[in-house]
Amino acid sequence: MQPSNRKISRRDVLVGTAQATLATAGAAMLQPLFAGQSQANADEPVIWDAHTHLNGTSGTPEERVANLLFFADRVGIQRLIVFMGYPFLQDPSPEQVRQQNDQVMRAIDHSDGRVLGFVYLNPKHTDESLKELDRCVRDGPMVGIKLWVAIRCADPCLDPIIERAVELKIPVLQHTWRKATGNLPGESTTSDLAALARRHPNASFLAAHVDGDWERGIREIRALENVAVEICGSDPTAGMVDMAVRELGAKRVIFGSDAGGRSYASQLAKVYGAEVPDEVKRLILAGNLQRLLQPILSEKGMNS
Ligand SMILES: [Zn+2]
Repeated sequence: MQPSNRKISRRDVLVGTAQATLATAGAAMLQPLFAGQSQANADEPVIWDAHTHLNGTSGTPEERVANLLFFADRVGIQRLIVFMGYPFLQDPSPEQVRQQNDQVMRAIDHSDGRVLGFVYLNPKHTDESLKELDRCVRDGPMVGIKLWVAIRCADPCLDPIIERAVELKIPVLQHTWRKATGNLPGESTTSDLAALARRHPNASFLAAHVDGDWERGIREIRALENVAVEICGSDPTAGMVDMAVRELGAKRVIFGSDAGGRSYASQLAKVYGAEVPDEVKRLILAGNLQRLLQPILSEKGMNS
């Protein structure tokens, strides 16, 4: 089903979410989302979502991305980074990787410029990954790399891929998680990412999910200036964004949702509910991602 593109009360959704978050944190009253702005005519912040998927909805890539954008409109998200097709494949073959990236490129084509793509790679297949990088980034529309759980990212097989990412001036977003029940064999933690980032000081990394165990994850990448945290994918917990800003600085914290696996609103609440200045929220919601993507966007003649 294709929902109509009716703009609804975005502010009601956001205020409700922020209110719930603040209530959880024990705050006595709801503050405006951005200080000095009235509820009635506040300027909406620019929001880019660094982490979305074509999963969690149904239909063709075109129908799926229309659905993602319909709900993005409800909460004022202007641009989405989409990666990985469907179904999710933990250890895809090179052919499956190409098929998934083709799905994402169809979504990009159908988005009026609102969707940017990161190329999904399986680093176990290093040579094929380098070819896919060229196909989707150098010769295609994509502007970053997404790595998931095929192999832990400290493995040396990633090195040629990261070197090529530096040449192409694109960031690398790596899933990081630490499960209480034990990780998948190829699932990286922030400790793995720190080892990779240490070997590649000129590359730019995003630690997706901040390890799940974010208090530990923030500490594990703290010394690596070339690693930012991307905050998607867990329940909105008071203090997460606050700690990331305190320990890493405002420029190393980036908003992402993991939609459709997570709701936009619950993930935005992490930012809106944080006790950080408005200018910091603006960096987290869009400014930092825009800065990271600026080199590749200007290379491709795309605006930010
Ligand atoms: Zn994800």
